[in-house]
Amino acid sequence: MTDDYEHYEAVVVGAGPGGAAAAATLARNDVETLVLERGVDAGSKNVSGGLIYAEESSPYTIDELFPDFRAAATERPVTDHYIHNVSGRSVKTFDLHGLHHHDTEWADAVLRRKMDSWLAHRVHEMTRETGGGLLTEVRVNGLLREPDQSRRGDRRRRRQLRTGA
Ligand SMILES: Cc1cc2nc3c(=O)[nH]c(=O)nc-3n(C[C@H](O)[C@H](O)[C@H](O)COP(=O)(O)OP(=O)(O)OC[C@H]3O[C@@H](n4cnc5c(N)ncnc54)[C@H](O)[C@@H]3O)c2cc1C
Repeated sequence: MTDDYEHYEAVVVGAGPGGAAAAATLARNDVETLVLERGVDAGSKNVSGGLIYAEESSPYTIDELFPDFRAAATERPVTDHYIHNVSGRSVKTFDLHGLHHHDTEWADAVLRRKMDSWLAHRVHEMTRETGGGLLTEVRVNGLLREPDQSRRGDRRRRRQLRTGA
């Protein structure tokens, strides 16, 4: 390159689950990908967890993008869903099994800090193989587009975006 900028075919902003999935898909398709995360670590601000679902009708699931995801990044499968409403000495129980398992291939409990950190490490490994990688403590403020990005017949150059980080 003849300028002072580093160039990548794709830049993903944020290493949450969305950014991780996007970066993994790009890397698997051999696209040179840089991931920029403003946190000290991906997920460093998370203090809680939740449930993650793989839908049967979804075109892809997170364990297809990251085959060891469930073994390494989740806590446990969740197979029963009840709400127990306690009032005085009585308890009313609602069985939500049908609702939660509609279109569900699997559901796991996760801790976001652990999950996001694991995803970030995997994304770093995958994107490094393309010539990119993951950088933390980089906050993206906007995009600067190359003046000639709409030029025809030069796909690689058109996909290059300079980040205004
Ligand atoms: C209270 C609560 C409970 C939830 N419970 C569940 C649940 O149980 N199950 C479930 O599936 N979903 C749940 N969600 C939703 C879930 O958190 C989001 O759908 C999911 O986190 C979205 O992922 P994401 O990667 O798009 O965004 P995020 O997880 O928000 O990740 C964005 C990442 O981008 C980084 N970033 C942002 N701006 C910049 C910038 N300018 N430069 C660099 N980096 C940047 C952030 O630091 C962050 O790491 C819950 C949400 C909330 C608020």
